[in-house]
Amino acid sequence: MTSLPRPPAWTAPLPPAEPPADMTVHHLPTGTYETRAALAFRGGSFRDKRSFAASAVLVRHPRGDLLIDAGFGAAVAEHIAMLPRFVRAPYQAGRTAAEQLDAIGYDRGRLLGVVPTHAHWDHVSGLDGLGGTPLWMNRLEREYAAADPDGKVYRQVSRGYEIHEYAFADRPYLGFPSTYDVHGDGSVVIALAGGHTTGSVIVFVTLPTGPRYAFVGDLAWQIDGIRRPAERPWLMSRLADSDPAQLRRDLLRVIALDGLLRIVPAHDLGSYEGIPLLVPGPAAQTCPGRHA
Ligand SMILES: [Zn+2]
Repeated sequence: MTSLPRPPAWTAPLPPAEPPADMTVHHLPTGTYETRAALAFRGGSFRDKRSFAASAVLVRHPRGDLLIDAGFGAAVAEHIAMLPRFVRAPYQAGRTAAEQLDAIGYDRGRLLGVVPTHAHWDHVSGLDGLGGTPLWMNRLEREYAAADPDGKVYRQVSRGYEIHEYAFADRPYLGFPSTYDVHGDGSVVIALAGGHTTGSVIVFVTLPTGPRYAFVGDLAWQIDGIRRPAERPWLMSRLADSDPAQLRRDLLRVIALDGLLRIVPAHDLGSYEGIPLLVPGPAAQTCPGRHA
């Protein structure tokens, strides 16, 4: 079987949000690595090579900014060398998130923290250049990252970081029972989706201009996992996911939202289209961008 049963679409009203007028979201691409579609989702072809994005997303809010994931860092080659041989892949590194922030003269004091969607290497490598910023982790992901072999790079790059442990409330949001409303205005809501790793999260972002995003981390590796819909190939799921049954439940919840908000799997480059890059000058402060 290559596809998942399509769940009924979400029909209830979307949760209320009052994002401030000057809130913006930006894509900070830091590089890509190569994977065959056949390994990324069931039904994918071996001939179809996919470039997996490694990116950070900056969410600017007057009460403080957040970086979702950190992408590749300056020492990405060293981080890849720490991985088991069979998961190493050809990669291309661009400018790190830290370099992109510095290039626009960004004041890092504005950052409340870095929120990794989960602690795997390709989401935290860039922490090597973001020292001094608090690292936002929930208890489940802290425990996962401290003990799991796949937390090796995390354990190295997070050394010296001040960990800000945030806690979920039993406040359902778009079908997810455990959530954390960062600013209390519904504009940035972190939801526990602990299938890929035990403390994996989805970050829901609602912009004042209307668009809503779901940054779903590695819930699906490519948008095909949402659109077809299809799970990861069985072997890859066994290798990559802490709890495949939980992952399936969360994947179905997100599939039900497709079309109501923009779903951005962390590694799907095309899904970031329309999210403006960080550019120097005053535009970086307000950057209206193109929000499709
Ligand atoms: Zn990943």
